[in-house]
Amino acid sequence: MEILDGKAAASAIRSGLKQEIAGLQSLAGRPPGLAVILVGDDPASAIYVRNKGKNCREAGIESREYKLPGNVTQDKLERLIRELNLLEEVDGILLQLPLPGSLDSQRCLELISPLKDVDGFHPENMGKLTLGLPGFRSCTPAGIIALLKYYNLDVSAKDCIVIGRSNIVGKPLALMLLAQNATVTICHSRTSDIKGHVRRADFIFAAVGIPGFVNADMVKQGAVVVDVGINRTQDGLVGDCDYEGIKEKARAITPVPGGVGPMTIAMLLKNTVSAWKNKLQL
Ligand code: NAD
Repeated sequence: MEILDGKAAASAIRSGLKQEIAGLQSLAGRPPGLAVILVGDDPASAIYVRNKGKNCREAGIESREYKLPGNVTQDKLERLIRELNLLEEVDGILLQLPLPGSLDSQRCLELISPLKDVDGFHPENMGKLTLGLPGFRSCTPAGIIALLKYYNLDVSAKDCIVIGRSNIVGKPLALMLLAQNATVTICHSRTSDIKGHVRRADFIFAAVGIPGFVNADMVKQGAVVVDVGINRTQDGLVGDCDYEGIKEKARAITPVPGGVGPMTIAMLLKNTVSAWKNKLQL
């Protein structure tokens, strides 16, 4: 059984980006810039933003954090996004989700310039993903694809089961797997026989948000299991899969933490560098 070490894969990607930035910086005249907007004081969001900032700085990306109070108005938040869209030295804009209170996140995401949409959530970039056109890809599913590639795991012609159909993980992941020639089934809260689907899968992608949702009994011998879930429990952070039970049967599995999580941040950095290169025509 192989452990798909997202920390190692992400570190390799970040080193490559660091070298690329160092090589292009004199030509560019400035480093890549990422603006991160954090609204309110959700502790988990604050940790994510801190990690993203640290990873950016280490790679040579200038990360600016914009902290707004939880009671900020929709108007004020939208004004900030418009300003950042125009700011020359900002290549990428990330709005940390979820937003507190009654703020309309979809409206804000649609306001971010598609050229600076390094999270890949703008309808234009989601549309490009659907059509197989170049554009920014959502970081978590893109990180999963990059992790599979790092370990030479080919999904072409394989039965891939994605559990979860959210706009940020399940749906874009299914489209990215399809682009890799996988046979894709999406399961969700209304699927009648999830166990039956999962049991025949060569690759299982769990993005549900329920600890232990996928257990060893549901996993075919030799399957690859990618656990996207991040659940805070009394025992600390756990995924959606029963890691201990499954590792006896799986060909490969991602740990939580240290699997998909670090890859998500690496893809954010990669998208920011792409936005920088696109803007400066490097
Ligand atoms: P979400 O709540 O938006 O979506 C969950 C999906 O699971 C839904 O589509 C729903 O249909 C499905 N679902 C819920 N209950 C189900 C059930 N009983 N049976 C079958 N399907 C069911 O969540 P999300 O934003 O897609 O995130 C999913 C998980 O991934 C969460 O634990 C989240 O914290 C984690 N996550 C991790 C990363 C990362 O970088 N590793 C990034 C994003 C999300």
